[in-house]
Amino acid sequence: MIKFSPILFSIFIFFNSFYTSKKIKNRKTYIIAIHGGAGTIKKKNMTPELEKKYLETLKKALKKGEDHLKKGGTAIQTVELVIKILEDSPLFNAGKGAVFNHNGYQEMDASIMDGKNLNCGAISGITNLKNPIEGARIVMDSTKHVFLYGKRAQDFCIKKGAVYADSSYFFTKNRWEQFQRALKKNTIELDHDGKNKTESDIKKFGTVGCVVKDIYGNLAAGTSTGGLTNKKYGRIGDSPIIGAGNYADNNSCAISCTGTGEYFIKGTIARDVAALYQFKNISLKKAAKKTMKKLNKLGGRGGFIAVDKNGKYILVFNTRGMFRGVANSNGIFDIKIYKN
Ligand code: ASP
Repeated sequence: MIKFSPILFSIFIFFNSFYTSKKIKNRKTYIIAIHGGAGTIKKKNMTPELEKKYLETLKKALKKGEDHLKKGGTAIQTVELVIKILEDSPLFNAGKGAVFNHNGYQEMDASIMDGKNLNCGAISGITNLKNPIEGARIVMDSTKHVFLYGKRAQDFCIKKGAVYADSSYFFTKNRWEQFQRALKKNTIELDHDGKNKTESDIKKFGTVGCVVKDIYGNLAAGTSTGGLTNKKYGRIGDSPIIGAGNYADNNSCAISCTGTGEYFIKGTIARDVAALYQFKNISLKKAAKKTMKKLNKLGGRGGFIAVDKNGKYILVFNTRGMFRGVANSNGIFDIKIYKN
């Protein structure tokens, strides 16, 4: 018979706790957050079917991103992968669901940033890339530049392997109707008459974004958009502008924005969150609060998502809702649309 020995028992407890604490220390943590735009998104303007569609698409994108991170995928890969899923959905104002400009076609913008080395890539005024975020990645990886625009940028990206899509691919009935209403009212914003409950009746900015901290501790951010319905004169918003609609730095955080782009540019909103966090040495929550205050003061509407180097996150907006989600290695997997 084995006799109970207090000494042996203490040794066992000591080694066991040592091993467990080491395991916890070495545990690979990650976090991913996504958004699909902010705006006047009210439950009463949604049908259960439409709500389900949004939730399912957000869930699919978040899940794919999380799985990729679990398998050891990098932050930058994950951002591109997730944004492509959102771009391929007609629900969001990016890629397939992009809004119409004043001339009746889609002009898309996107940007991506790697927090490890501050490498970044952006494109704007893109009409025929199936996934504008792919173009942004190509600019980052295959040029010495940061920001390319228009047809020549597009041709270059296609030459480097980006998938071409004919204009007909981007046509969606909802966006067309939205455009017709905006034309009639001569507004650049989306009009909501509340009669028909379709996605075009929800007043929102449907830009998509993704921010990630991977298991290696690296951060990355990406943002992709069709801009604003009925936009004129080659207008470019904040989404492809590094520091305005998108930013990532391993020393602070990764941020992606959505909303009235002009105000995000004026307020350098994405960079402000990161700079406040880093130089004022305050929490991500506090940095976001201060930046949101600035956006409010400027008159900007929308929101932003961010994850910091310690794995903390925020999903904030000054509108009625924001399509959003977050997942991390502590078991959080959460998707939301409305304020609460
Ligand atoms: N921020 C985008 C822009 O101004 C619009 C959006 O977020 O939907 O182009």
